[in-house]
Amino acid sequence: MKAVVKYGKGKGLMEIRDVPEPKIKEDEVLIEVKAVSVCGSDLHIYHDSHPYWPPVVLGHEFSGVIREVGREVKGWKVGDRVVSETRTGSCGVCYICQSGYPQVCEQKRPYGIGINGAYAKYVAGPARLLHRLPDNVPFEVGAVIEPTAICVTSILERSRLQAGESVLITGPGPIGLISLAVAKAAGVRFVGITGTSADEGIRFQKARELGVDLMIIVDKEDPVQKIMEITNGLGVDILIETSGSGRAIAQAFEMVRRLGRVCAIGISGKETVPIPYDRGIFKAIRYDFCFSSSWTAWETTIGLIAKGLLPVEKIITHKFPIEKWEEAFHLLENLQAAKVILIP
Ligand SMILES: [Zn+2]
Ligand SMILES: [Zn+2]
Repeated sequence: MKAVVKYGKGKGLMEIRDVPEPKIKEDEVLIEVKAVSVCGSDLHIYHDSHPYWPPVVLGHEFSGVIREVGREVKGWKVGDRVVSETRTGSCGVCYICQSGYPQVCEQKRPYGIGINGAYAKYVAGPARLLHRLPDNVPFEVGAVIEPTAICVTSILERSRLQAGESVLITGPGPIGLISLAVAKAAGVRFVGITGTSADEGIRFQKARELGVDLMIIVDKEDPVQKIMEITNGLGVDILIETSGSGRAIAQAFEMVRRLGRVCAIGISGKETVPIPYDRGIFKAIRYDFCFSSSWTAWETTIGLIAKGLLPVEKIITHKFPIEKWEEAFHLLENLQAAKVILIP
């Protein structure tokens, strides 16, 4: 079968290759991939700025149909529509796994990063990571459940966003836009988003479609001043950091209110980022570092999407056959797309 393979350590080193179809183990299923979504971390892997174990088939945000079931698998059958969590390799026995957070296990080797992923016709993996994709949710939307579950884990479960709160999202990339949809679904009273002039095309347009209350273009106006104006000098209840920008990370300490929370999802790609530490102490800010997605968040996400309460289909801007993966990467890097779906 054809697959997009990152075949070595270094920049680039990625191409379509003919690889053998995966063979399943007793506790695994074979999934025919119907849609796979391009993630920012796929771009980082391409540029060698994210951990990965080559040679590896890319792709961890996917949906599909079960085509084969291992002997020990119970509760799943050929033909079932599915999505899968990505925490392959998590050990199940360490302190972190046993305490209910296997997605943060040190042994984790996710699909498309540590084991072969879904930029291919078939992917094989453990049945225990599957969730059912409801019939009324199209496969393309199924492919964005993984990043949505990350936002639900971070914003609703970890930072505990409540109805009626005020929110600022820094960064209007795919995770920023999904965070906006999650905040709206949670019933916030105000939600703003920051970006640069370069985001004025497709990304701010998507933010508008998702019902944002305020967009701040940080190279044209001072986001701190604007947020203070809007909140009568208080600051927002929760700031969701998705940009990874050093400046935004530092400004968050000014824009969040006293005793507010910062929900940090975006990675900076830097060894260290300077922050106004004492300001954080004196304002008693809670800083929530967030990583990956929980089983419960997957269930919440699928439920909200199936009910029409989380319209993540709005952020899908392009759909290509998998052969055009380079074009997809190019669009994303030039901020001309929000979410791009590849069809194997
Ligand atoms: Zn991803
Ligand atoms: Zn573990």
